[in-house]
Amino acid sequence: MPTVRPPLVDRFGRRHNYLRISVTDRCNFRCAYCMPHEDMEWTARSEILSYEEIERLARLFAEMGVDKVRLTGGEPTTRKELVDLAAKLRRIEGVGPLLLTTNGDAMGSMAGPLREAGITGVNLSLDTLDPGRFFDITHRNRLDRVLVGIEASLAAGFDSVKINVVVMAGVNDDELCDFIDRFWDCPVEVRYIEFMPFLSNGWQEGKLLPYAEIRKRIEAKHRLTPIATDKSAVAKEFAVEGARVRVGFITSMTDDFCGGCNRIRLTADGRLKVCLFAKTGPSLRDAMRAGATDDDLAETIRHALDGKWAGHPPMNQLIQTNDRPMISIGG
Ligand code: SAM
Ligand code: SF4
Repeated sequence: MPTVRPPLVDRFGRRHNYLRISVTDRCNFRCAYCMPHEDMEWTARSEILSYEEIERLARLFAEMGVDKVRLTGGEPTTRKELVDLAAKLRRIEGVGPLLLTTNGDAMGSMAGPLREAGITGVNLSLDTLDPGRFFDITHRNRLDRVLVGIEASLAAGFDSVKINVVVMAGVNDDELCDFIDRFWDCPVEVRYIEFMPFLSNGWQEGKLLPYAEIRKRIEAKHRLTPIATDKSAVAKEFAVEGARVRVGFITSMTDDFCGGCNRIRLTADGRLKVCLFAKTGPSLRDAMRAGATDDDLAETIRHALDGKWAGHPPMNQLIQTNDRPMISIGG
C-alpha cells in the first residue's frame, strides 16, 4: 500500500495537486524571451537531479496528493532517456495526467515512444508560422521540424495537444488568426500566452499585448464561445465557431489566476519554486544528498508552501521578485 500523507494545502486554502518538474535547464533553441543570452552557462550534470531523485520526489508529492505531473525545462527532450523517466513516473500510484511541454523539435521521432511510455498530453511551443520570423525568435531554422513534431503528436493519440504561442507586440501579433486557420480542423487548443517578464528577457510593457486586445482581434474574425473549466485552470478556454480547434488565453499579466493556483514547481537543480514569480526556494536535492528522509523532505516542502503569497505582485514589480530566467525555472 502506498503511504498517504496530508494534502499540500497553503495558508489560503489552496490545495496543490499539480507538480511541474523541470528535467533540464539546457535547450537546443535560443528563444530571446526565455534565455538571457546565447552563451548561457548550463548547470553541471552532477547538479541536476538524477532520474532516481526525480522519481523519489514525484512519489513523495503523490503521497501528498499530487495527481498531475508535467515535465518541462529547458527543453526536456534534450535530456537522455526521457522516455525512461516518463515510464518511471507513469508507474507512480496516484499520478493521472502526465504531461510534457516541449519546443517540438524532437517530437517527430519521440511522440510515439513518449505516448507509449505513458505521457498523456503535450504542449508544443510555436510562436510563428513564418520561417524567417521563427529564426528571429528561436535563433534556429527549425520551423519545419516543429511542424512535423506537431503532426506526429497529433498522430500519437495523446489525450490533449496544445500549441503555446507567446504573443509579443510588434513581433508576432499580426499572426494571431493564422494559428486558428492552420489548425482549423485539428483536435488542438491554441493557447495565447501574455508575454511575461523574467530575468534578462528583454520584457518591456510595450511588448505586452494584453489579453483583452488579443481576444478583441480574434473576435473581429471569429465567434468564440466560453468553455467551462475548473477554478485551477490556467487558461480561459473558448470554442471557435465552425472549427475543431479551440483557443485558450493565459492571462498571467492582466488577469492573474492566482486564486485557484494548485501548482508547485521543481527546478532542474532540485529547488522548490512555489510560484513562477517568487524567489527560488529550498534545495530538495541538497537535502536528499545529505541523507534526508521522506518525512524531512515533506516537512521542507510544507514549510516552503507556507511562504506562498496569495497572488503575485503587479507586473511592474515582477522583475524584482524573480531571481531566475525562465529557462532555469521551467515554464
Ligand atoms: N522548451 C519547452 C518549450 O519551449 O515549450 C519547455 C520550456 S519553456 C520555458 C515552457 C513554456 O514557457 C513555453 O511554452 C514558452 O513559450 C513559455 N515561455 C518562456 N518564456 C516566456 C515568457 N517570457 N512569457 C511567456 N511565456 C514564456
Ligand atoms: Fe528553449 Fe523552450 Fe526556452 Fe525556447 S522557450 S529557449 S525552446 S526552453
